[in-house]
Amino acid sequence: MPPHPKKKRSSSRKGWRWSHFQKPPMAITTCAQCRSPKPPHTVCPTCGYYGGREVISMNPEESDQT
Ligand SMILES: [Zn+2]
Repeated sequence: MPPHPKKKRSSSRKGWRWSHFQKPPMAITTCAQCRSPKPPHTVCPTCGYYGGREVISMNPEESDQT
């Protein structure tokens, strides 16, 4: 006798599958400084600001490290 499911899968349980738990699309926020789209909790790649202050200097003349 082949294995069979013991209980009938109801219509409410039908959607309870791993195929329905896919990752949501990547969130995009806008930078508070330059309004360009950027992923959340990251330094803005356009202006280098994060948390209201400049973290990365975008001008190569102002950066003191080589
Ligand atoms: Zn920015």
